[in-house]
Amino acid sequence: MSIQPNEQYILNFLKQLLDTPSPSGFTAQVMKLVEAEASSLGVKLSWNQKGGAILEVEGEDSSRTIGLSAHVDTLGAMVRAVKSEGTLRLTSVGGFMMNSMENEYCVIHTRSGKTYTGTILSTHPSVHVYSDARDFKRSEDHMEVRIDELVHSKEDVLKLGISVGDFVSFDSRAVMTDSGFVKSRHIDDKASVSALFGLLESMKRESWKPKHNLKFLISNYEEVGHGAAYIPQDIDEMIAVDMGCIGDDLSCKETDVSICAKDSSGPYDYDMTSKLIELAKAENIPFAVDVYPHYGSDASAALSAGNNIRAALIGPGVHASHAMERTHKQAVFNTTKLLAAYVRA
Ligand SMILES: [Zn+2]
Repeated sequence: MSIQPNEQYILNFLKQLLDTPSPSGFTAQVMKLVEAEASSLGVKLSWNQKGGAILEVEGEDSSRTIGLSAHVDTLGAMVRAVKSEGTLRLTSVGGFMMNSMENEYCVIHTRSGKTYTGTILSTHPSVHVYSDARDFKRSEDHMEVRIDELVHSKEDVLKLGISVGDFVSFDSRAVMTDSGFVKSRHIDDKASVSALFGLLESMKRESWKPKHNLKFLISNYEEVGHGAAYIPQDIDEMIAVDMGCIGDDLSCKETDVSICAKDSSGPYDYDMTSKLIELAKAENIPFAVDVYPHYGSDASAALSAGNNIRAALIGPGVHASHAMERTHKQAVFNTTKLLAAYVRA
């Protein structure tokens, strides 16, 4: 029998995650939220050296350990230079199109703990002023942050305490619509983190145990490629839970749990992928099997780093990923359901 995810619990936690800035490398605050939630569910948590969380659940048979990972780090930026006119030049954290961040509100986080708001603009941001404003290339060196303070020079900005190396987070603009959509930046991969917590909440509320031991890695450097490069050595197999892609020739919808057969790192484990497909069919969980040519996951990172595991990749379908993302709450619940089916089988 399949589990019943606590829908309100999952959506509430997802909203809290989306509202907490967490570009890769600046995840201490969001990890406090993860820690508090794990503690409220009575789940044992430890940390890896770079600040990723490892949650442990004992299974009926403790001879094997299955790893489940999802990442709380997101796209973001860092101050590359303070410009003479009092704006900030950026360097990207993670991979995205500059035009998808243009005109977005942002927050600058100084190392002394102060925050300032601003807007990400092209350096030719007005059609009244620049004849090439429409066609001006939105590349990293053509974008800057306009800070919401009275600053006119580099010195003015430095006086605020803003420096090169400060993190810049993007406004997530998280909205949950009455029709069940979640639209926000950073649904990748916070939707999956909330799906994993939905699994933990179900174990507690519906009092069931997974077949084997589970270790959840809530990773914090996925967007820069090495989130799960380290995983606990007792993990035999790992499912990376990360967003499914939508568009072009892909079959995944915003309500589906995506099962990825192959991405840019190569094919995922044949038996694990087949088992996930069979379980989705058996439990009538809406799913799609797809191939993602421009994608790598924490499972790819774990395999490339030399871990002796087999690995698979599933996750909620997300439209316009790394831009103005959207998924439907059903995709998140379907992800929790498929994970539950897998760890109970
Ligand atoms: Zn992701």
